[in-house]
Amino acid sequence: MNTPRPLGRRQWLAFGLASLGGALLSGAARSDSDGGSRNVVYRLVPSGPSAQVVVVGGGMAGTTVAKYLRLWGGAGLRVTLVDPDASYTSNILSNEVLTGARTLTSLGYGRQAVADRYGVVLRQARVQSLDAAARRLTLDDGSTLDYDRLVLAPGIAFDEAYGLSATDYAQRTPHAWRAGPQTELLRQQIAAMPAGGTFVMSIPAAPYRCPPGPYERACLVADALKARGPGARVIVLDHNPVIQAEVETFTRAFSVVHGGVIDYQAGISGLQIDAATRQVQWTDALGAPQRMQADVVNPIPPQRAAGSAAGEWLALAGLANGNAGRWAAVDVLSYESTAVPGVHVIGDAAQCGLPKAGHVANQEAKICADAVVRLLSGQQPDAAPVANSACYSPITAGTASWLTAVYQFDPATRSMKLAANNGSTVGAKATEAASISSGNYRQMQTWFTTLMGDSFA
Ligand SMILES: Cc1cc2nc3c(=O)[nH]c(=O)nc-3n(C[C@H](O)[C@H](O)[C@H](O)COP(=O)(O)OP(=O)(O)OC[C@H]3O[C@@H](n4cnc5c(N)ncnc54)[C@H](O)[C@@H]3O)c2cc1C
Repeated sequence: MNTPRPLGRRQWLAFGLASLGGALLSGAARSDSDGGSRNVVYRLVPSGPSAQVVVVGGGMAGTTVAKYLRLWGGAGLRVTLVDPDASYTSNILSNEVLTGARTLTSLGYGRQAVADRYGVVLRQARVQSLDAAARRLTLDDGSTLDYDRLVLAPGIAFDEAYGLSATDYAQRTPHAWRAGPQTELLRQQIAAMPAGGTFVMSIPAAPYRCPPGPYERACLVADALKARGPGARVIVLDHNPVIQAEVETFTRAFSVVHGGVIDYQAGISGLQIDAATRQVQWTDALGAPQRMQADVVNPIPPQRAAGSAAGEWLALAGLANGNAGRWAAVDVLSYESTAVPGVHVIGDAAQCGLPKAGHVANQEAKICADAVVRLLSGQQPDAAPVANSACYSPITAGTASWLTAVYQFDPATRSMKLAANNGSTVGAKATEAASISSGNYRQMQTWFTTLMGDSFA
């Protein structure tokens, strides 16, 4: 049964903000489809620009932008989505896989819905090179794709840091910071830990993917190890001087909820890990050398935009122009690269001042889709974009906390700034949940289902 239903751009952006924020604050469940039916096909507005947009990367940012380009751009806007993987595994809630509370399979999302319902063309391939002057991509199957505008959402790549090789991360000391085989390996290693064992994890200097994610992981691993008996320890080695998100929540979680289990050390440096012996060495914040024998080591390495290393496709195309070549700097009104016209970069790969998070990637995708449609129609991007960020953090097997923030464009600095309820950016802060609770944990499921539905369904 096909139910045609046209929707305007403003309605959808308003929906995204209202429903996701609403779910956070009240727990109200909303869906972007009629009762979750997968049979709805949307009738696209017949007018609009006639152009070819190619989207690279079918994760949180890329799949969302492909969907909304078709919804807002109309039938004449042809959209092709390129990703090497047949389906996507959510990083969000993948820390729960480590404790056995979820399976990786339960975090799998197909992209067929954006093809069937919105007419996005799917290409299963990896981008190998980009000729921005010719507006042409080359894929790993040797074929090429031409575009009028290009949206890149390839996510992140990892440095081989702390004396470890890519093989060490894959086989012995998994970072598990991209959900997949390393997540499963880390789960198995944790499950095999002796009672009273020691888990050592590290956090890279910001910016990195998901600011609260490592602290959430420390809590969940501590919760699981405690349940097996006394004496277990979770050592958190943070290269940052302070906790990077939800400071009140995690300070309380480390000292009270998981007090005596989690040992949080900020401002460390010189981390070195022996993958064979699991010996970990570092220098503490006071400059003293430290050493520890771990049962399981989980180093989260420094990150950069995927393809941005020397000689790789993003770097060769001149797009890795932010933070010493690690990220793609963009204009936050359109997410167009500041270095390469006609190419937009969204999600974790972009340097745009917003946190690297899936909920934010969904928001950036909508601002970018709106801007691309306007630019292809000879108009200017919206001059006052607003984005919100919401994030739930499980603290134990049945409790969670949350963090929410609103960002708005600041014309003086041409950047996105935190905004308060009254619209002022002066002294505005993100809001943390007042408590860690089981109610928050239940709301987390609603938030997650809504976000993933808005991105993939
Ligand atoms: C443990 C953990 C917990 C998290 N929890 C939360 C949370 O609670 N809330 C939240 O908002 N965020 C969370 N995040 C962060 C969130 O997952 C990321 O910010 C988000 O996935 C970024 O979206 P993206 O589209 O930029 O990248 P991704 O989702 O990683 O997608 C990138 C896509 O690009 C594809 N790709 C890469 N290279 C190429 C190429 N050359 N050609 C074609 N395709 C390519 C990849 O296959 C992939 O599908 C968490 C992350 C982790 C690791």
